[in-house]
Amino acid sequence: MELRICHLYPDLLNLYGDRGNIITLIRRARWRGIDVSVAERPVGASIAAEDCDLFFIGGGEDRQQRLAAEDLRVVKGDALREAARAGKVVLAVCGGYQLLGHYYRPAEGEDLIGLGLLDLATHHPGPGARRLIGNILIESDLLGGRTLVGFENHGGRTRLGPGARPLGRVLAGFGNNGEDRCEGAVSGSVFGTYLHGPLLPKNPEFADLLIARALASRWGDVVLPPLNDALEATAHRAAAARAHPGGPDSRREGAPRAHA
Ligand code: GLN
Repeated sequence: MELRICHLYPDLLNLYGDRGNIITLIRRARWRGIDVSVAERPVGASIAAEDCDLFFIGGGEDRQQRLAAEDLRVVKGDALREAARAGKVVLAVCGGYQLLGHYYRPAEGEDLIGLGLLDLATHHPGPGARRLIGNILIESDLLGGRTLVGFENHGGRTRLGPGARPLGRVLAGFGNNGEDRCEGAVSGSVFGTYLHGPLLPKNPEFADLLIARALASRWGDVVLPPLNDALEATAHRAAAARAHPGGPDSRREGAPRAHA
């Protein structure tokens, strides 16, 4: 089997180590003997839905986001929509996540029109508004109630429409808007989240879910053999304890104490 990854705007949208998500996907596939290729597609480069199984977009500040938004809509949008329709995985983080929605209304300037792949819209409350920053812990039904950890830093407040469901419920942190306890969005095989960190190294079950879905779009149902994730689990628990001292992960056996 082969996993073909398309990394959109690697030079433009890469906050808090978002590129680490690509490294994690590569490693976890190769450790299982699955071939991996990565195509990097900056502004101006076209993409084709049938060339890749998983498309990734990282985060960026408003200025970088504006450069990507235009290109996403005009150059890559149709292919990405076709990919989503074909069940290929699209994963976007923070600034990229906002651009998968209908629009992002920044603190200043014109709206950035998104792809509408996720039924959501994002509003920045205006200059001087509090940014939603910090460690975050969510629990996700997609992972049978397991938790995802990460770091968030955004001014935009995202609200989901009826066509998208949240990726998870916020246990600690802000999530989509700091009010409704929803974090991220899922619609079919399209996933968006505010979790940087990067997201996947400390959340290996989610990485595997994405790999399996991406492979399934071409090879049919795939069962990934388990890996030794002791190190990843320790990193997850340490980050979870930092985000939510005394929370669910710190009660698990072997969890590091938050503070002595
Ligand atoms: N510019 C967006 C916001 O602040 C996204 C930021 C990011 O990608 N970290 O809401």
